[in-house]
Amino acid sequence: MDKSATIFVAGHRGLVGSAVARRLQSLGYNNLLLRTHSELDLTSQSSVDAFFEAHKPQYVILAAAKVGGIHANNTYPADFITINLQIQTNVIASAFKHSTKKLLFLGSSCIYPKFAPQPIPESALLTGPLEPTNECYAIAKISGIKMCQAFRIQHSFDAISAMPTNLYGPNDNFHPENSHVLPALLRRFHEAKANNVDKVVVWGSGKPLREFLHVDDLADAVVFLMENYSGLEHVNVGSGKEVSIKELAELVKEVVGYEGEIVWDSTKPDGTPRKLMDSSKLEGLGWTPKISLKDGLKDTYQWYLQNVIAKQ
Ligand code: GDP
Repeated sequence: MDKSATIFVAGHRGLVGSAVARRLQSLGYNNLLLRTHSELDLTSQSSVDAFFEAHKPQYVILAAAKVGGIHANNTYPADFITINLQIQTNVIASAFKHSTKKLLFLGSSCIYPKFAPQPIPESALLTGPLEPTNECYAIAKISGIKMCQAFRIQHSFDAISAMPTNLYGPNDNFHPENSHVLPALLRRFHEAKANNVDKVVVWGSGKPLREFLHVDDLADAVVFLMENYSGLEHVNVGSGKEVSIKELAELVKEVVGYEGEIVWDSTKPDGTPRKLMDSSKLEGLGWTPKISLKDGLKDTYQWYLQNVIAKQ
């Protein structure tokens, strides 16, 4: 990509899109096209098409999506399937129609079957039933991968897909019920410390294993893939390191500096028992992550203090 190329980062205010925009800007890409939700409604086909007609972005990073944790996915499945299908269908079709040179679609590790082999290789896609708690979101994301592949096969459109593992970092959603586990725990431990509460409730059994990747590492991988990969198959992006929810809770407790007790709420669902990506394909292309979970947690906690707590 030329440094003056027009690059549309869809979803630039979100966790992933903001990190991708920061990364591109720091590398000297100075022609980013960014639109807030109120400036461009990505669920509207006519608005998206008019935007592409007017600006003809040369490159597109599709990081806009409706996302949420286990509770949000369970509660609003209709929103998750409809909004995600609309956004990705509109953006991919308009990018092709208006001669975008390359598009990268972002998905999630929940596209894989609930009992996929661990670590999960790209080839596990569509080999078994999905985790029911986020099936609607996963079906939308699988459709996005297939749409990119179909446009490549039928029209030679250079559309690729990256599937990140569980992400965290600046601009994450810190909602107490609807967010993912890592920001939810950062907030809950912080509030317990601030209010001198002696117990923090964490959901489930603590046994599920999860892999976490700092979003700045993902952004680095996204730029790397835009520059180095044009294959049919989607590419996993993970850290290769897994921790149990119990270990995560203890690490968050330490980073926040909370001294009370952790209590487990077994009435809440555990979700998938284990979710580790096999990222050897990306490593084989020459990319590796750089940010450890502890450093990433410290960085995210600082961001939360400065951007959420300080502004309350
Ligand atoms: P998942 O990776 O798709 O299952 O999504 P989550 O990040 O929402 O949940 C990961 C794991 O963390 C599950 O086993 C949850 O039960 C557990 N967990 C523990 N406490 C929390 C919490 O406060 N919020 C969320 N979202 N998950 C939690």
